[in-house]
Amino acid sequence: MTPKPAVYVLDPYHEAAITTLKCTDWIDLVLWDDPCKGDWHKHAVGVLVRSDTRLTADDFAAASKLRVVVKQGVGVDNIDLAAAKAAGVAVHNTPALNSESVAEFSLALALSLSRRVTESDRRLRRGEKVVRSTTLGLSLFRKTVGVVGMGNIGRVAARKWIGACECRVLAYDPVAPRDVWDRDQIPHTRVDSLDELLEQANIVTLHVPLLDSTKGMIGGRELALMKDRSILINASRGGIVDEKALLEELRKGRIWGAVLDAVEVEPPTLEACRDFLELDNVIITPHIGASTIENQRNSGMAAVRTLLAVLEGKDDVPGKIV
Ligand code: NAD
Repeated sequence: MTPKPAVYVLDPYHEAAITTLKCTDWIDLVLWDDPCKGDWHKHAVGVLVRSDTRLTADDFAAASKLRVVVKQGVGVDNIDLAAAKAAGVAVHNTPALNSESVAEFSLALALSLSRRVTESDRRLRRGEKVVRSTTLGLSLFRKTVGVVGMGNIGRVAARKWIGACECRVLAYDPVAPRDVWDRDQIPHTRVDSLDELLEQANIVTLHVPLLDSTKGMIGGRELALMKDRSILINASRGGIVDEKALLEELRKGRIWGAVLDAVEVEPPTLEACRDFLELDNVIITPHIGASTIENQRNSGMAAVRTLLAVLEGKDDVPGKIV
């Protein structure tokens, strides 16, 4: 009898996704908390991950039976794609499903910073008297938002800024087709350089993947171009913003501040983020932009459907990267 293909779930998935896998009687399932998880290189035909597990060239070289890896979410910078391709392993993600959650969160972060929500809450908890007349926030109503990366999340973020605050939208993306947002009828002005966007935007929101071309794309020079009292949102990936340069800029108090759902060291620790956390003009969250009950269920289920479809040999399975 042909052995059943072994599927290893290396990171925690939503219980609905796990239930579906458990009900699939033609696979052998090993979960992240199973002591046998460490043997995955020897047995796995399919692997499900999130951002927690890194898959390196050594992993692909050792995983002789592996046919497919599915990543719940969008960013695949935790997977060595070239090594996967060389090893003949297909890699898929779950595109577009988390856009609402991440875009919503990027707004929540920016509004928390502009209206000094987390700062006021922190001060109250410390027993400080918060004087209303000197705790002035910054209104984002009808301000200009600069969206860097006109993909799925950038598109939803643009819509939300228009709907929530009647913002004017500038967009920058040297890769996307010229008419990428026209089909969705999102009112925007597309700029051809990042500098132009930085010089005009009151809110700069980053929605690009971590690539060689985007690594460090916001450094000291770019921060210096940002307007006085502007806000930087990084809900994409750590490494896209030069953290040393950002720290220097935040200490000057010229821009209003920054909100970071993605930092270089993840998960963020007090030790790694200490310098930032001494400042009131920054908010750091532990990469929870996509972490809603609704999205974890939907994306987890989509990842499972994708994995099973590839193992069944179906054509045109969504989210194929390599
Ligand atoms: P997407 O692929 O739909 O869009 C990315 C866009 O970035 C594309 O339009 C692409 O053309 C553009 N781009 C590429 N290089 C660029 C450059 N140098 N300058 C400007 N634009 C460039 O992806 P998405 O679903 O919108 O996700 C974007 C990123 O958000 C992901 O790659 C991931 O890193 C991050 N993300 C974060 C969370 C979170 O929890 N905070 C969750 C999901 C995704």
